[in-house]
Amino acid sequence: MSNSFVKNLDRVIEDVEKARIKNSEHHIVDIVAISKYSTTNDIKELFDAGQQSFGENKIQDLKLKSKELKELPIRWHFVGKLQKNKINNLIEIKPALFHSLDSLSLAYDLNKKLFEKNKTINCLLQINSSYEQSKSGVNPQEAVAIYKDIEKNCPNIKLKGIMCMAPNSDDENIVKKSFKISKEIYDKLEDATILSMGMSGDFQTAISCGSNMIRIGSKLFSKVGQN
Ligand SMILES: *Cc1c(COP(=O)(O)O)cnc(C)c1O
Repeated sequence: MSNSFVKNLDRVIEDVEKARIKNSEHHIVDIVAISKYSTTNDIKELFDAGQQSFGENKIQDLKLKSKELKELPIRWHFVGKLQKNKINNLIEIKPALFHSLDSLSLAYDLNKKLFEKNKTINCLLQINSSYEQSKSGVNPQEAVAIYKDIEKNCPNIKLKGIMCMAPNSDDENIVKKSFKISKEIYDKLEDATILSMGMSGDFQTAISCGSNMIRIGSKLFSKVGQN
């Protein structure tokens, strides 16, 4: 039986390929499949087709799904808002990457708990480059200083780069503007290697602005014909 999610994956890979080549042949883009609206069977289907990184936005879902699929060598990502009372759960699950470290105060609390447990976690600093109140993340103007503060004072947090979400807008120029703000910050961070930006509706734009990690949910997990 030919399979809809696999077709979606093929199409996303093709689109990513075109977008990244426009940027540079050497520009590699990682795809994280955001499985928040999907079952473990759906995840398994995409994993069998070659997709290895999956992301969730709720700690409880990350815990359940990663447990249910623990036989598979999936690289799990956490992309959602982390409440401070869930820090221990995150540490316990130890995802491959925590994208949404969104304040200095969360970083200090997370580092303290990691230190006590003698553990580390790979993180991205989330930047609110859309300047929308509803979105999390540090202010772009303070981002470089906060990043350096975390690098200096939180040795158990392994910062790998930054993450951002586009503003809610159909205007590509507005979206581009916010992606460019993130790229400028990323370029100022010498040790950063990951720029996580772009979702189903804007990943080509994000890649044209330098993104090297995209987080794709609906484009991968909707039934064929829905997008
Ligand atoms: C849901 C989600 C995505 C994926 O969104 P789609 O538009 O479905 O691709 C990406 N990043 C975060 C943080 C999300 O919560």
